[in-house]
Amino acid sequence: MISIAENLAALTRRIHDAEQHHGRRPGSVTLLAVSKGQPAAQIRAAHQAGVRHVGESYLQEALPKQAELADLDLCWHFIGSLQANKSRAVASHFDWLHSLDRLQLAQRLDAQRPAELPPLNVLIQVGFEQRTGRAGVAPDDLPRLAGQIAQLPRLRLRGLMTLPLPQQACSPHPFVRLADLLDRLNGAGHRLDTLSMGMSDDFEAAIAAGATLIRIGSALFGQRPTPFTAQTQYG
Ligand SMILES: *Cc1c(COP(=O)(O)O)cnc(C)c1O
Repeated sequence: MISIAENLAALTRRIHDAEQHHGRRPGSVTLLAVSKGQPAAQIRAAHQAGVRHVGESYLQEALPKQAELADLDLCWHFIGSLQANKSRAVASHFDWLHSLDRLQLAQRLDAQRPAELPPLNVLIQVGFEQRTGRAGVAPDDLPRLAGQIAQLPRLRLRGLMTLPLPQQACSPHPFVRLADLLDRLNGAGHRLDTLSMGMSDDFEAAIAAGATLIRIGSALFGQRPTPFTAQTQYG
């Protein structure tokens, strides 16, 4: 049996230690519980243990869970890649989007964000290995895209996200490069406060580099019961 409360306690200790070790302000790193592949009951258990931020990658999986957990004060993050024809559901049902990487999608979300909700918090996903075809805007194209997204009234640009390949051997590390890109945008007049980087296997390195939001799945919930990949039917 996996105890989510015990896993969360251990993770909280490790986050605290990493903050201290790397000179980060205590409490400056937030754990985002990545619950793709996990049933709603596991999210409820995580909430009971103190989790408030939940990340989902597939809309068809996330929406029923949200309905089932509507009584909880959870903040919902969409972290998967987003097709334009699914943007309205994200605009209506989520508090954050981590994978914004193109202006057209941003404009759709801006038009679709319901008036009664606060602006949608968005992160621009940056891809450092364009040749692999992985999602994310190239670093060179980031300043222009950030400038355009910052103008959209129903979106609130909060920062940057990256999802490096597991064995990516480039130097400096993508976490360090993402932090540098955020600094440069802030130096150019943006007010960005969020760096979404680091997962179960590398979150301490991400905290060292300046992460404020770490996306933790298996270290909290245990192994996912179903292997979800981009090839599944979920979208
Ligand atoms: C699944 C996923 C995670 C969590 O991965 P773990 O290794 O289980 O912590 C984080 N970010 C994204 C974008 C994911 O798809």
